[in-house]
Amino acid sequence: MTDITGDGSSARAGRGSGRAGRRGRRRGPGRRALLTGAVGALALGTAYSRREELEEWWWRYSGAEVPRVAGEVDHPGAEWIPASSANLRRASRPRDYSIDRVVVHMPEATYDITLRVFQDPSHRASTHYVVRAADGHVAQMARELDVAYHAGHRGYNERSVGIEHEGWADDPSYLTDAMYESSARLVAGICDRYGIPVDREHIIGHNEVPDVVRICPGPHWDWERYIEMVRAV
Ligand SMILES: [Zn+2]
Repeated sequence: MTDITGDGSSARAGRGSGRAGRRGRRRGPGRRALLTGAVGALALGTAYSRREELEEWWWRYSGAEVPRVAGEVDHPGAEWIPASSANLRRASRPRDYSIDRVVVHMPEATYDITLRVFQDPSHRASTHYVVRAADGHVAQMARELDVAYHAGHRGYNERSVGIEHEGWADDPSYLTDAMYESSARLVAGICDRYGIPVDREHIIGHNEVPDVVRICPGPHWDWERYIEMVRAV
């Protein structure tokens, strides 16, 4: 079965690492709210989300959105093959959501099919990058500014960059040196851009996203080698 199914990111309740999450933690309920109990806490929560909505509105329409150049890519040498705009959410990362994770995927499909699926507006899934097995060629399908629906978890979509690697989880023949090397260069660039530590806490498999049950990227993915390669770039 394909792994590149719609991930329902909009339905998940995971809290992002963006501005809203940080703000909520910084400003806990005051003494008065604690004393008034559950009703007070509920009202406080409502007030927070209304303020978030206003901030989001202001952010979108105040000119704070990052200007874009058509066809521009974040990874030098990547080929721009955009996913359907229905399969991602426009954002201005890392201004509005901080990026602190890279999520590694294996789509259970060829490179060409993976591109086609994410170009299909009915699919409700996308990724930032797709790496081809034969030669390590990189397609960029969503800007790193934007939230691609790849992790099956709203908070992790907002905080991460997703990379699909052509192949099947149970078939190690797709795990070529060219693909590992190209992906390692890609990930090293992402980590450098956002100050993400190069370790297994921050570079994770799709199967390591909370509440996700997937065999992705699968048992043959050589994490030790991969992390070493990213560090060596
Ligand atoms: Zn996956």
